[in-house]
Amino acid sequence: MAGDYLQVETMVVGPLAVCCYLVYDPESLEGVVIDPGGEAEKILTRVRELGLRVKWILGTHGHADHVAAAGEIRQALGAPYALHWADEEFFVHGPGAGVFLSWGFPPNPPADETFEEGRTFPLGPFHLRVLHTPGHSPGSVCFYDDRRFLFTGDTLFVGAVGRGDLPGGDYFQMLRSIREKLLVLPEDTVVFPGHDYGDRPTSTIGREKRENPFLNEEF
Ligand SMILES: [Zn+2]
Ligand SMILES: [Zn+2]
Repeated sequence: MAGDYLQVETMVVGPLAVCCYLVYDPESLEGVVIDPGGEAEKILTRVRELGLRVKWILGTHGHADHVAAAGEIRQALGAPYALHWADEEFFVHGPGAGVFLSWGFPPNPPADETFEEGRTFPLGPFHLRVLHTPGHSPGSVCFYDDRRFLFTGDTLFVGAVGRGDLPGGDYFQMLRSIREKLLVLPEDTVVFPGHDYGDRPTSTIGREKRENPFLNEEF
């Protein structure tokens, strides 16, 4: 029933085809933009069509393909852009700052706010909660609404997991994060990944537990 759940709209943006999500309360129209990796105008047009009041612009992690348009979008909407502190440190001020320049991305916009494990972002009667899931990058997070939806960035894909070989990454730490923070969630939790790499755009925790070949090894 409308009103029982957050609404989710997916837009595939940027040269690396990132899934940018508009997540909003259908009553108050309060929302967030998750992973605005590019094509700011396309995202802004949809935000305006839906009449959303965007309260935060959130990055699942600091890789430029996920946050490259955050600066332009915050300027247009006047909403703060927020990232986990560890990725802000690594990719804006630290050794990861140059990683994506060679791929043709601009430097990351500095975040207006940083967050850590457990931070919540209220949207009407709902909220999104930060689960810190390091491994793909030091500050990789997933956003969970405590009811049904999980936005996993590049940590967990449909039928796959993220890379652990990029600067600041640790493959086995990522697998531990998935096991300890994500696979413990209810089986019907819907997984919205950062890229559509699987046989379908979304999945569930139960299906990934049973069928994701990367999660069926001992680790
Ligand atoms: Zn990434
Ligand atoms: Zn990515």
